[in-house]
Amino acid sequence: MSHAAFRSPDGTPIEVSATALASFRDELECTSVGIDDPHFDEIRQIWNAMIDRRPGLIVRCRHAEDVQRCVQFAGHHGIGVSVRGGGHNIGGRALADGKLLIDLSSDRSVQVDAETRTVVVRGGGLLSDVDTATAPHGLVVPTGIISETGIAGLTLGGGFGWLSRRFGLTCDHLRRVELVTSEGVSRAVDDEHHPELIWALRGGGGAPGVVTSFEFRAQRLNPMVVGGPHFRAPDELEDAIDRFRRLTARAPDELGCMLKLAAAPAAPFLPTAMHGRPVATTIVCHTGDAGRIDGDLDPLRSGVQPAADLIVSRPFVALQSMFDGGERKGRRNYWKSEYIGDLDDAIVAGLLDATQHLPSSSANIKVFFLGGAVSRISHESSAAAHRDARFIVVAATAWDDPAHDEANIGWVRETHARVYERSGRGGYINFLTEDVDPRERATAQAGVDLARLELIRRRYDPNGLFV
Ligand SMILES: Cc1cc2nc3c(=O)[nH]c(=O)nc-3n(C[C@H](O)[C@H](O)[C@H](O)COP(=O)(O)OP(=O)(O)OC[C@H]3O[C@@H](n4cnc5c(N)ncnc54)[C@H](O)[C@@H]3O)c2cc1C
Repeated sequence: MSHAAFRSPDGTPIEVSATALASFRDELECTSVGIDDPHFDEIRQIWNAMIDRRPGLIVRCRHAEDVQRCVQFAGHHGIGVSVRGGGHNIGGRALADGKLLIDLSSDRSVQVDAETRTVVVRGGGLLSDVDTATAPHGLVVPTGIISETGIAGLTLGGGFGWLSRRFGLTCDHLRRVELVTSEGVSRAVDDEHHPELIWALRGGGGAPGVVTSFEFRAQRLNPMVVGGPHFRAPDELEDAIDRFRRLTARAPDELGCMLKLAAAPAAPFLPTAMHGRPVATTIVCHTGDAGRIDGDLDPLRSGVQPAADLIVSRPFVALQSMFDGGERKGRRNYWKSEYIGDLDDAIVAGLLDATQHLPSSSANIKVFFLGGAVSRISHESSAAAHRDARFIVVAATAWDDPAHDEANIGWVRETHARVYERSGRGGYINFLTEDVDPRERATAQAGVDLARLELIRRRYDPNGLFV
């Protein structure tokens, strides 16, 4: 008897006898889920419902020993391996047809050593796990802005959020990992042991193995910040963008912010007449001295009658999950991003025009403010790209009915193309979709030594076991 659902890294079907498969599954301490399991379809689901791939077997690992067993089994039979952390990658890179899926999503614990400011996160940890563990100690690992995202993929691709301008990217805080490489052996990787490999894992866009734990250097942070959204009326889009430009022109590193152009939510704090109409929202997170916050936010607020101003003192942890509801799992999603140096008039004109043709109530354009510490950290310490960009523009949309795929995808492509025309830099490696073209893939890592990255990958994964 054979089990024909497995595939090699290049997609060739692999025969594994039922006896060999059963004996492997028996050896595991954790649960494994085969294609005939009634929960298989539910368990293989990831955040983006556009991705519909069927692994040969899902193993829900909770410790390194089982991960090693999986890699040894896959290596022995020549089966390709994919790894799931938080499952949030829009291109669905955690899932591959016929591969053995090492699913770490239930291995999420976090340990904090407040004295040495060391935070150790298991391979399936989410941003919320990290924030809730560190906040009581007045510590933080700077991550992204949606708390259900996985720390694994986010760190391996760079990781930016509200605190990046003050402290740098998530990967800039990565000190050490435990990595199971293609021989099925667990290695400690840091600047002393395997310096080339830790460089690649800091933002290089993936791992030649399975990271079972990440060790971060934490920053001190007052658990209370001043943050939240500031909404303007639909007929004030241009003024809102102009004020965002002025706000960012003189912002200190302690001010993280983002402009969002989207249909107004049907929220009780907004006038009913505004619901569903395109509005501009500036979301801020200020972590600096209380005495200077009003002055720093002056370009946003002075002389303005906002539709709603929800910028208040609140726990940083609360801000981190404030926007989770708009990004729920299981919808169809499509994005494109582009780093830019300047939010110039031509880009603004393109964004304003796109805002008048939003293809769904969830479609939006985000302009996230970068720079600060991100741009001051040396390229030598990590493989993260685009450190010199001041902003990243993201055109994104979510919908449910496949009949609306064309309209949504078309709008994103068109909006992105207008920004790319002016910028030509490339997008964020962690925002690449399934259908990305070779130019987009290459420009996402512009300025990074790709030959060096490839050499490292081949040294630790010579047979290309990991997809
Ligand atoms: C709603 C939403 C909001 C986001 N916000 C931000 C943001 O604010 N800032 C930002 O920088 N990015 C953001 N992202 C992008 C995010 O960083 C990427 O999608 C990232 O890939 C997610 O990581 P994950 O572990 O959840 O994903 P997964 O899909 O599980 O994995 C992504 C990639 O990492 C690999 N991987 C996962 N775990 C491991 C592991 N333990 N060892 C080795 N390889 C592993 C996978 O194989 C895959 O190739 C956001 C994404 C979403 C969907």
